[in-house]
Amino acid sequence: MAPWTRDEEWFREARRRLVERLVREGYIRSEHVKRAMLRVPRELFVPDELRHLAYEDTPLPIGHGQTISAPHMVAMMTEYADLKPGMKVLEVGAGSGYHAAVMAEVVAPSDEPREHWGHVYTIERIPELAEFARRNLERAGYADRVTVIVGDGSRGYPEKAPYDRIIVTAAAPDIPGPLIDQLKPGGKMVIPIGDRYLQHLYVVVKTRDGKIESRPVTPCLFVPLVGEYGWREYEADTT
Ligand code: SAM
Repeated sequence: MAPWTRDEEWFREARRRLVERLVREGYIRSEHVKRAMLRVPRELFVPDELRHLAYEDTPLPIGHGQTISAPHMVAMMTEYADLKPGMKVLEVGAGSGYHAAVMAEVVAPSDEPREHWGHVYTIERIPELAEFARRNLERAGYADRVTVIVGDGSRGYPEKAPYDRIIVTAAAPDIPGPLIDQLKPGGKMVIPIGDRYLQHLYVVVKTRDGKIESRPVTPCLFVPLVGEYGWREYEADTT
């Protein structure tokens, strides 16, 4: 079928098939992540000319040398984040806004009253991508549950700290200190750590008495976190 003849029903069916596959493959483990990924239309978060690929389980280019993460990675990170309705979440690396929308659908489910809604703050260093994310979130109906900020997310976003959860969607050489400071006691962070060519996804827990425990859960490959507590621009070279 030619890309311009695909309609909402076609995308809904493709989304359903992808989510079923992610469940079968063990990436989606909970009902609330399944429900969120069935709700958020990924086709609204990719460039128009790539819409027909929105439900392939692969990263896609979104411009400026950056990518929207593969759906299995979004599912896996969201599961490890162990989100609950009402939580305040910081995402570092807004990109297309898709992962932020999936997390918003868990912490602020569409069918819950607004007074129970949590919120997702997502920070992006490239202003044009922050604008892309904002537009996508608006048209997909998440503008009131997700705030997009332009800035260096390796410093976190102290204005709304502390956070229940922090999700970093770009790879850092180490866990940025400000992100640890901005995590609540009892809070969790999911972050890829490693060099430019191979990283491990880490789940980091700040215990109630403030100790930091971290464990690697899977190998992965992300674009670099560029910033004061990440890679220098000349080290990252994302082109
Ligand atoms: N979560 C995104 C999505 O759902 O489309 C995918 C993010 S993409 C893999 C990583 C993003 O992190 C890129 O858009 C990149 O510009 C951004 N990034 C890299 N370093 C950053 C920093 N220090 N602060 C904020 N964003 C950063």
